Amino acid sequence: MIDADRLKKNWSLVAAHGNQVPLYFYSTLFLTHPETRDLFPMNMAAQRDKLVTALGAVVSNVDTIDAVVPTLQALGRDHRKFGALRGHYPAVGEALLATLEHFSGPHWTPAIAADWTAAYELVAATMADAADAAAHYTPSWWDAEVVAHDRRDLETAVITIDPGTRLDYLAGQSVSLCTSLRPRAWRQYSPANAPRTDGTIELHVRAVDGGEVSTALVSLLRPGDTLRVGPATGTALTLRPGSGRIAMIAGGTGVAPMKALIEQVAAAPRPTSLYWGARSPAGLYCLDQMRALAAHCDWLEVVPCVDEDLFGAGARVGAPADLAVAHGRCSGADVYLCGPAGMVEASRKHLAGAGVPPEAIHFEPSGA
Ligand SMILES: Cc1cc2nc3c(=O)[nH]c(=O)nc-3n(C[C@H](O)[C@H](O)[C@H](O)COP(=O)(O)OP(=O)(O)OC[C@H]3O[C@@H](n4cnc5c(N)ncnc54)[C@H](O)[C@@H]3O)c2cc1C
Repeated sequence: MIDADRLKKNWSLVAAHGNQVPLYFYSTLFLTHPETRDLFPMNMAAQRDKLVTALGAVVSNVDTIDAVVPTLQALGRDHRKFGALRGHYPAVGEALLATLEHFSGPHWTPAIAADWTAAYELVAATMADAADAAAHYTPSWWDAEVVAHDRRDLETAVITIDPGTRLDYLAGQSVSLCTSLRPRAWRQYSPANAPRTDGTIELHVRAVDGGEVSTALVSLLRPGDTLRVGPATGTALTLRPGSGRIAMIAGGTGVAPMKALIEQVAAAPRPTSLYWGARSPAGLYCLDQMRALAAHCDWLEVVPCVDEDLFGAGARVGAPADLAVAHGRCSGADVYLCGPAGMVEASRKHLAGAGVPPEAIHFEPSGA
């Protein structure tokens, strides 16, 4: 029987050492199992705290493991794109145990070691079993050709890719991708279209300041290039069944999954309002396209929102969530939220303050 309380206490003791923990973990892993180095990006800065923090958090919560089994299975399937094999899991487990022992100091006991080992084996087996099962019906990754690269402004590109072989996803999910311009650095992007018969996928990418992958995708990628794409993940933003009103609140490229959802809703229309915000009208990089969509769909309204409308582009001034609430679009509606983390958090608080029930607010938790 694993003592989950003891694991959690031990994990908080270890995690208090901050950045030292992932540094020690990766040094141990790469020294003892050099073959695992190729699974990780060349630039480890963004990666540093991801794996070890997730492992520590998940493994020490082994008492609630049933709740996260679907997530672990999705992670296991997704990790096939890194070239992660069943044989790599023990190497990661050994490095994790060595790291925990190192930072636990005198608190490390054979009983704690046994608990961590059992909990890690449970997590690793769940992931590896799901990965093995997936190998029978879906590729580990797709090599997708860039068929169009439409640079809308300095910061934003609309990129159309063709994965060749069928890549199943639902509107509102995201796919991770990797470019040879930034080897092994994977980032997530949300398809901006519902699945098409020709299989092509439209992605909206905004270059973030100093961003390793987004800047390359916006500035350097060209038609004819190949992107490696992983399986679709996430269910937070997928369409909830029903026939009631929908309110969509988006910031920047957060409009991408909303556009995909709108295309899905078109098959069984429901009254839908999209409030889409940017600092200035220039940031509303596909407004013409969204307005054209609304002109053809009497169930859809598109409301552009900006901080300042200096040149009279016909946008509303204010935050999208504030305006949607003020216009009565959120009461009784399923509300979908997507955009920069700060905007999502502020919108969520505003909606809650306006009495929108939490179960009606759908968003991808930051860092998901
Ligand atoms: C579920 C999900 C879906 C996403 N969908 C999209 C999408 O459709 N379009 C899109 O453009 N992006 C999307 N993102 C964000 C995307 O995955 C990358 O995080 C983003 O492109 C930055 O990657 P990078 O390698 O350029 O930056 P990094 O090199 O990873 O980070 C560089 C610096 O930028 C900061 N930073 C990272 N991401 C952001 C951000 N989003 N905004 C502001 N600062 C940031 C980091 O803290 C760091 O300081 C999505 C993220 C998630 C989790």
